[in-house]
Amino acid sequence: MPLTATMLLLLLFFFSFSSNAHIEVNEAETSFTRFSVEYYVDKSGADDFYTVKNKSFKNSSNRLTLGKDAKTTWVRFLLSNTSPKTKKLFLHIPEAYHTKQLTLYQATNNLIENSHVVYLGDAKPNTKLYGSTAIFPINLSPYSESYIYLKNETFSHQWFTLAIYDEENSKHALISQNYDIGIMVGILLALMFYNIILFITSRKKENIFYALYLVASSVWIALSYGFLATLFGIYGQSMIHINLSLLAMPCFLILFMMCIFETKRMYPLEHKALLAVLVLIVLNIFYGTIDIIAALEPTSTHAAIMIAVTLTVSLSIKNKGNPLAKYFLIGHSFFVLFSILAIGYYKGILPNTYVTSHAVGIGIMLEAFMLAFIISYRIRELERIEKEQACLQIQANTDPLTQLYNRRYFDEVTNQLLTKDSDQTPLSIAIADIDLFKKFNDQYGHLVGDEVLTAFADILKKFTPENAIVARLGGEEFIIALPRCNERSAFKFIEKLRIQIEKTRISSHNHEALSITASFGIAEVQNDLKPAIINADKALYRAKANGRNQVVCFNLSSDKLLTLQAD
Ligand code: GH3
Ligand code: MG
Ligand code: MG
Repeated sequence: MPLTATMLLLLLFFFSFSSNAHIEVNEAETSFTRFSVEYYVDKSGADDFYTVKNKSFKNSSNRLTLGKDAKTTWVRFLLSNTSPKTKKLFLHIPEAYHTKQLTLYQATNNLIENSHVVYLGDAKPNTKLYGSTAIFPINLSPYSESYIYLKNETFSHQWFTLAIYDEENSKHALISQNYDIGIMVGILLALMFYNIILFITSRKKENIFYALYLVASSVWIALSYGFLATLFGIYGQSMIHINLSLLAMPCFLILFMMCIFETKRMYPLEHKALLAVLVLIVLNIFYGTIDIIAALEPTSTHAAIMIAVTLTVSLSIKNKGNPLAKYFLIGHSFFVLFSILAIGYYKGILPNTYVTSHAVGIGIMLEAFMLAFIISYRIRELERIEKEQACLQIQANTDPLTQLYNRRYFDEVTNQLLTKDSDQTPLSIAIADIDLFKKFNDQYGHLVGDEVLTAFADILKKFTPENAIVARLGGEEFIIALPRCNERSAFKFIEKLRIQIEKTRISSHNHEALSITASFGIAEVQNDLKPAIINADKALYRAKANGRNQVVCFNLSSDKLLTLQAD
């Protein structure tokens, strides 16, 4: 009894399998995108219909991927029309663009009733090709059944999907073909334009290499997923040279890496490794312009070398503390992972699903997004470094107590104003020294002394002209450069300033209303700053000697010290 049951089950199993590739249609709407078929691989490529129909076929779904060894593959299924009307059907092969030749046989009672051929070896227009899709018409008489045999010959790998529609659904399927690839290519090209604009504005080389990488990627995606065939009607052999884009992609990726990680300057060893791979790929591209078939042969070996080197390099750069390398590694790992899926798919090891059949495209998209993120991250990093440097620069140029320029920066800026063609001359300088400053320290302590110095600096800034350069020389001595001022006009400004200082009451943290005065020595600068400082110092010494709280000028023409009168 158990044996009979097992036999019955086996029979049922066999029956269900043998009727697997059987599709029934009636008057209702027809749209079959998932169904069972049988296939047979003709290794010789020479079998005709009558030989093939007696061969043993294997079961499969309507989505096949069989690798390189299945260059000539036959697919068959049984179509039954259960309606009283003639049924007009259309067999779609959306991936026809990459095949060499497709032949359809409609056989009724083991005899060929109808046959159609589509040859794609050249770019000649073909009435059965609609964009990247080949469409074969099939007519089924009322209550009839026919075997459909499709012979599929490819240039390299065997992979395709079949679909069966009535007229209405056939049109719908055609309208929506390749829209997903169009979106992918559109996004990549938009990113490319954006990076070209970034390059024009920032002149950063990584933007242009990234843009070129995006061009090569989008061309290759458009080519390998039939978008170019749909757009421009180019098929088979005629588009083989466009595969150069596949070789160019890693080339631009490596150049991008070199720029973004500044490998030449920062990581010489990693730079050499990248350079070696780059040379290998560039040589292959040159070779490809002469013989593309031969150049494409080592592509997978080159891709493996490239992936190994780029992964090792980014890992090593990451370990050396570069924060960008982590993001590059994530993006690149996506690319590697999806490339492995794609290889599995093309070789017929992995099943034909949307993800496996579009794996390279998805991998490129994910990596492209990550690279875009890296570019924006780097812009942010560079901005941060620039801000830090600007901050350090300010610190290096200013006096920490008064926030005025220091002596070094004063000399630098003033000397710039004294250059030959400068319109800032005549230029005068004034040295200021707070009178009897020591007493503030002695009387109220150092802290109050500091407060007086800060308040004095504020007065100098407030009551000198906009274009004046004010700096602290050290201690309670300050220097002011007055562009476009001879000694007389400088005197007027400084005298006003002296009066202002005299009038101002300085409030400190514990003592209200401190009064200060200051003495000033003025000298006009003749080409060189140094002698002018010596002369201004002499004038200042005179101002102190004359009783402080006054302005003395050093007159260049008479070489004498003068106490000018304010008008
Ligand atoms: P004069 O009118 O002749 O210039 O008399 P003075 O007291 O201003 O001159 P002197 O050179 O005798 O004293 C300057 C004092 O300034 C001495 C020093 O302790 C003080 N000093 C220098 N730098 C600072 C500072 O950064 N903070 C404070 N609080 N005091 C300082
Ligand atoms: Mg002094
Ligand atoms: Mg003093």
